[in-house]
Amino acid sequence: MQSVEPPFPPPAPPPTRQISPTDVSQFIRLDQCERYLRLRLKERTEGSGFLRDYGVAPQAIPPLLTRSGATFETTVERAVSQHFATIKFGTEERRAARRDDDNLPVAAAARDLPPGGIVVLLQPRLQADLAGWRVRGDVDILRLERDADGVLHALIADIKSSTAAKVEHRLQVAFYHDMLAAIFAREGIAHGPITLAVLYRGPAATTITMGAGEAARQEVQRAEAERWFGTGDGFLEVVDDPDAYLGAVRDLVTGPHSTARRVIQTEFDDVPFHLTYKCDGCLYNEFCMKRSAETDDLSLLPHLTEQDKRGLQRAGITTVRDLAALKDLRGVGHVNAGGEVQERTTLVPAPGREAESRRLAATWPVGQRLDELVHRARRYRRWKKDDVAALTYIPSKGYGSLPYSDATQNPNLVRVYVDAQHDYLHDRLYLLGALVAGSEGGAEPPGRRRSVVRLSDGPPDSSEREERLLIDWIAATLRAIAEVAAPDEEGRPRAPIHLVFVDGFAQRVLLEGLARHAGTILGATALYDFMTQIAAFDSPLSSFLDREVRDQKNYPMVCQSLQAVAAFLGFDWNAGEVPYRDLFRARLFDFWG
Ligand code: SF4
Repeated sequence: MQSVEPPFPPPAPPPTRQISPTDVSQFIRLDQCERYLRLRLKERTEGSGFLRDYGVAPQAIPPLLTRSGATFETTVERAVSQHFATIKFGTEERRAARRDDDNLPVAAAARDLPPGGIVVLLQPRLQADLAGWRVRGDVDILRLERDADGVLHALIADIKSSTAAKVEHRLQVAFYHDMLAAIFAREGIAHGPITLAVLYRGPAATTITMGAGEAARQEVQRAEAERWFGTGDGFLEVVDDPDAYLGAVRDLVTGPHSTARRVIQTEFDDVPFHLTYKCDGCLYNEFCMKRSAETDDLSLLPHLTEQDKRGLQRAGITTVRDLAALKDLRGVGHVNAGGEVQERTTLVPAPGREAESRRLAATWPVGQRLDELVHRARRYRRWKKDDVAALTYIPSKGYGSLPYSDATQNPNLVRVYVDAQHDYLHDRLYLLGALVAGSEGGAEPPGRRRSVVRLSDGPPDSSEREERLLIDWIAATLRAIAEVAAPDEEGRPRAPIHLVFVDGFAQRVLLEGLARHAGTILGATALYDFMTQIAAFDSPLSSFLDREVRDQKNYPMVCQSLQAVAAFLGFDWNAGEVPYRDLFRARLFDFWG
């Protein structure tokens, strides 16, 4: 029998490479970590079995964040459906209709829209093949409008429960642009320009005087949200330079030399990565920690920057053990450091590595920190039970900023250790704490110690709640200072005060909180001025524990959070009535795996 050629060539097989717009926006959020992208593409193609096989689990997104996003989305969708004809898509509808995506109903809604008609599609799932990639994702809102001349206008918006629209949000809607254009082209639907937008919740109402330009911009965005979606909640940023973001889609994924194509073709261990604060919010946190430990990767060195890491790698040093062995530690007498007698030491190049040490010492940027990094590498390897000598401090770092107190110098110093916790969903403070410790004759007697901890009486979703928190905490902290302060040498009620913050972020959120209520809380301005005044000549007014630890201490663990450092120094978080370590095991106390 004669074979009959099909009248058309068979359809091209579906692309095997899969990606979602959220993968790319997450890649941007994670400081463009190429290892994240590599792992995500692998998971999209093969599933998450490789994580299980490696004995790790993906790190879940905090439920608070998901819940807040869902609540804002529901509020917006309710408002939209009160003003426009809407079609809501979801998993149940797709399952009932036995389809994987909503391409056809989206195309039908566009095709059937009469002149003058508007329909808003909520959560349609789009799937398109773009330049060899199968791209799939759920659009938050797709608004279709056909004008009186019959031209179809589409507006794609992403709903974000965030204080501002960000680059990754705009990039995400740019992907949907290309997907929708591809679907319309395939279905033969003519259309006008596709507008891109981000509908975000916006910042907390504040009393900080906003610049006139910023206020006007917010006013416009508030009106745009009302105009396009009928919602009084949130701000609508219409992306005014969509071409830049459409170009970024090509550079990152669909272009012939895109980042995603390059990353997927690179051997896994050759894809650059570095463990930093960003990894806290990454799915693959556990994977990367375990893999780094197994390969003795340089990322495990505390306070190593990505540039330092690259500099060392270029010089052929790829493991902590190799860096630790670059130099030997020699004792050369003793030195008095802050009242403590310490052995004086020096690092000398290990035999056979003199030229390499000289070369690295002259290499930017790692050269200027080379000895510090070798000290840190030695301490880490010693912690891992290698037989190497290591120091517990970083030599040649001078004195810290914590004030000195003894019988003659600042004998009645009051130290106030301040904690300020910020709710990023509402952009307000929800917890304030102060440990107030007074000195007498340079010593801190237990009787001159008070704890002040105040928690807002619910999520800080209103200015009044934050105001109550601040009033209560400021008053209690001032009372505690007055109670613990010992009189000065002349018996007067005068004592120097020093504030200690965990880090600069805690100070910043407290200052911003005070500024929000400067006009209403008596004492807010005074405290703000006190915290920001130029320090006295002999010591700064505030210290930051994270800087002290980074500059002065040679602790071996990569994550040097307050919880980790305290636990390392022997503080038992389970010792009190509440077993904090057990209670907050995930995320806060999982620093040693
Ligand atoms: S944990 Fe960090 S290094 Fe690893 S993939 Fe995620 S962001 Fe990249």
